[in-house]
Amino acid sequence: MDSEAVLDLFRRSGALLEGHFKLTSGLHSDRYLQSALVLQYPDLAEQLGAALAGRTRHLQPTAVLSPALGGIVIGQEVARALQVRALFAERQEGALTLRRGFTLSDADRVLVVEDVLTTGGSTRETAAIAHTYGAQVVGAAVIVDRGSDPARLNLPLQALVQLQVPTYQPDSCPLCARGLAVVKPGSRA
Ligand SMILES: [Zn+2]
Repeated sequence: MDSEAVLDLFRRSGALLEGHFKLTSGLHSDRYLQSALVLQYPDLAEQLGAALAGRTRHLQPTAVLSPALGGIVIGQEVARALQVRALFAERQEGALTLRRGFTLSDADRVLVVEDVLTTGGSTRETAAIAHTYGAQVVGAAVIVDRGSDPARLNLPLQALVQLQVPTYQPDSCPLCARGLAVVKPGSRA
């Protein structure tokens, strides 16, 4: 699946909106991404998972580890395609941790899977959890890479799409300057 095909799935499911948006950060942007809207369709989630599995199978992972909540659905689908375990880490008192009896060992080769990568902070934190169990982290896989620094993970990274979306302060937003109405995505108005 090439990046245009992936973006097409996002557009058709309403997961990639184009217009004039106010983000939760308060910044404005001409695009808005909500990967949960494409992943709500199990057949599309399965296709995206199979595409990421195809790009990471050579790493010979024995487990997929994803940060909750955003990584869970795609992590499950990548693991299904690779026929390995799917684990997720969740926040407890601010720190990502393995709960529910999930465990890893020094025999595990872990692939960290997320929906969207931006700064890489949660991916690095997820990899660090695997290391505390003695597991080897063999790489990271994401549907959309929104960042621009390939060295930020210190891990082999596979992304189906590179999507760098510019953001603007409201007082210097070119869309505001053109008088376009701004939309807050996710609101019901
Ligand atoms: Zn604006």
